[in-house]
Amino acid sequence: MTTAFITHGDYLLHEMGADHPERPERIGAITQYLASSELGDQLKWLAAQPVPEGLLEKIHPVEYISWLDSLQPKQGLVYADPDTALNPHTMRAARLAAGAVTMATQMVLEGKLTNAFCAVRPPGHHAERSIAMGFCFFNNIALGVEQALSHRAIERVAILDFDVHHCNGTVDIFKDRPEVLVCSTFQHPFFPHRYYDIQRDNIINSPLPAGTTGNEFRQAVERDWLPALHCHQPQMIFVSAGFDAHQADPLGQLLLDESDYRWVTQLIVNAASCFASGRIVSVLEGGYDLQALAHSVYTHLEGLVEG
Ligand SMILES: [Zn+2]
Repeated sequence: MTTAFITHGDYLLHEMGADHPERPERIGAITQYLASSELGDQLKWLAAQPVPEGLLEKIHPVEYISWLDSLQPKQGLVYADPDTALNPHTMRAARLAAGAVTMATQMVLEGKLTNAFCAVRPPGHHAERSIAMGFCFFNNIALGVEQALSHRAIERVAILDFDVHHCNGTVDIFKDRPEVLVCSTFQHPFFPHRYYDIQRDNIINSPLPAGTTGNEFRQAVERDWLPALHCHQPQMIFVSAGFDAHQADPLGQLLLDESDYRWVTQLIVNAASCFASGRIVSVLEGGYDLQALAHSVYTHLEGLVEG
């Protein structure tokens, strides 16, 4: 049983302005809290490698990738959308964020790891095939999924997303790929206001009103995710692990706490051992209260290690 914790120092070089909530300190808060704990010693700490360019081009058009590269400034910030800015280090961080996920996927498939958590930034689940938005440039989890599906033994996968925001980018990319089940719980109505009402058998959307409690979140997951997982029988499970549905989060208005992240992690671990030989790759998405983020990631990792 090996759980990896994959991150990279260069994630801290990407920043989008002093007051931006998606800030380098998010990664520092997670790693410092883990490093000071016994749990930190039980993890295999790995440095991310950049995503292979050929794989990147299977998800994002070459024109889009070149456009982002050309946008990157030599100094200061350039905005890809009103929330999403590039500084001189952004594209390297984005390639390393996607690369953490593809590296984790490869190692899990080779049996070198049981599961992995990728503490990355920029996040990915709002990035559509050709649109950067919501702090995201490349869809990190989609790249891991593409990598897994290129493996002979993997024909069906699931993406489980418990970030407070709907994963419009992931849905955009996989809406016509029935081998990829996408289950998302999210606050609604809320950003990003796209794809939340799409009708596809492989897209399971669970909108939750502001003020939804942990118990109500758990009911929605049991009602919507479990039957879909049983039906789909995924051979590998990917997790878009955003922790901005925490009650302390400044962006979302859901009322989850660490116990809910413990519960949902256990449910995911159980599903993975049932269908997927335990194979899980989990990827950081949102989470903007530094203490709640560090504590929630810790709880999530405890569940992965015990799994
Ligand atoms: Zn989010």
